[in-house]
Amino acid sequence: MNHLQKFTSQVRNHLLVVLLANNAFMIGAGWYASTHNSLSINGVVIVMCVIGFVLTIGFAVLSTEYLTKPLRTIWQAIIHISPDTADQPAPNLASLSLGKDMVTNLVSHIYQLASVVDTVQQTAHYNKTDPQRDFVASNLPLPLAIMDKNDNIVFANLAFSTYVHQDADLQGKNFYSVIDLAFSNDRTFDRWLSDAKANKAVAAQTWERVRLNGIDNEDGRIPQFDLAAYYNQDNPDNLETMVVLFDHTMQYSQDDQAMSFLALAVHELRTPLTLLRGYIEVFEEELEGKMSAELDDYMKKMAVSAGQLSTFVNTILNVSRIENDQFNLHLRRESWQDTLKGVVNDLQLRATVRGIHIELDLPDSLPAVGVDRVSMYEVVSNLIDNAIKYSNGSARIIVKARETREGLIETTVQDFGVGIPASAITHIFDKFYRNHRNRAQIGGTGLGLYLAKAIVTAHGGQIWVNAHEGQGSTFGFTVLPYSQVASKSETSDNKADIVQSAHGWIKNHSLYRR
Ligand code: ADP
Repeated sequence: MNHLQKFTSQVRNHLLVVLLANNAFMIGAGWYASTHNSLSINGVVIVMCVIGFVLTIGFAVLSTEYLTKPLRTIWQAIIHISPDTADQPAPNLASLSLGKDMVTNLVSHIYQLASVVDTVQQTAHYNKTDPQRDFVASNLPLPLAIMDKNDNIVFANLAFSTYVHQDADLQGKNFYSVIDLAFSNDRTFDRWLSDAKANKAVAAQTWERVRLNGIDNEDGRIPQFDLAAYYNQDNPDNLETMVVLFDHTMQYSQDDQAMSFLALAVHELRTPLTLLRGYIEVFEEELEGKMSAELDDYMKKMAVSAGQLSTFVNTILNVSRIENDQFNLHLRRESWQDTLKGVVNDLQLRATVRGIHIELDLPDSLPAVGVDRVSMYEVVSNLIDNAIKYSNGSARIIVKARETREGLIETTVQDFGVGIPASAITHIFDKFYRNHRNRAQIGGTGLGLYLAKAIVTAHGGQIWVNAHEGQGSTFGFTVLPYSQVASKSETSDNKADIVQSAHGWIKNHSLYRR
């Protein structure tokens, strides 16, 4: 039975009940008058007529109210969406009993029609011809798209449709349904846009190394580009957000290939490097106390260099795994004190060679943490390694751990070295980012902090930096206690690994976010 048939049958039933009740009351009143008041037949007819008249008026008033409620609801919905009476509230569909399905269906059609009319009007408004504007926008040799306040595309030039491989007219389509972007950090386009919508009337932003998911160019490369966006709240022409893409597929895919090649080459270094480190350890043990001071110094420097090389190899391999979504963490119950002591112990020699002492400040007790020991080793060693590299002659590094009020385990690595200028802080965790001021003097890849962030985030923690130029830096991160990790993954078996993945690409729209 469709909605209209259902409504018709409801009305029929209602009228049937009302008429039957009306007649029953009338007959009842006639019977009562004749038996109890011994009226003549004329008297009984008069009583029945009067009662019938009163009841008909009563039922007519009540039925009108009841039967016209669906009509009044539809009327209120139309008034609600009409531009002159927009302050009229929307009808409350929940309070309906008669014809609820039919009215709900009709009202939703009315709202849909209104939004179509709105879009058509906006498009018509935009289509007001302005030859110069149209010429520039259409022939701009860069992909350009303009969205309204609902993120629907109001204009996309030919370069844009070609770039996103769409033949159909993009006008009216939602931007996020047309373009699936992935960013190398969590400052994504949609986050910026919602922030701009909430706080700023006008804003502009650029992103580097953005990927277009789901599309391969003819040569099999994933399109990669820089993106620039401009936001103008309540623009009178409804041109609220503008995005321009600057294609760098060639350059960025060459970087990716270089990274893959590097990872392949570096992979071959692993075995000889492990052997080398093993032999150095054997030599150190066997020749302890038998070497001259000079030889002892050489031996230490050899051990430090092998350690640094091993950090480099692991960083490259891990970044490559993250890029290819092949980086899995095996979270287990670990003592955080032991983990930190282990890393600091291993890096102490690296620091001593540079005249630096690493102080370890740990509370007496800390809850056990749920971490992947090997990956966490990379995080802490990268932070301490940086503190040594950028120490600028200072002699102290402080590694501290504490339990926060939220029950997380926070670790900080503080140095008193070169510090970081404010302009560099927002990019410090980006892939390949290196601060230009010390890039020339101090070697590095710009991957250590990127990797540390990916690992900490995959553990469910957060990483941050607090630094000022010339005054040293403090890097901090949190990890979860094992109890929280286990309850999240609904396992309490201490022996079982909890497997989580780290991803290098952050999807743009929260709807699609991993
Ligand atoms: P790398 O050290 O290999 O260049 P990272 O990703 O570890 O790469 O660090 C990125 C950039 O952050 C570095 O090039 C440096 O400019 C800055 N940086 C990192 N740690 C420190 C620190 N402790 N003090 C000052 N600058 C730092």
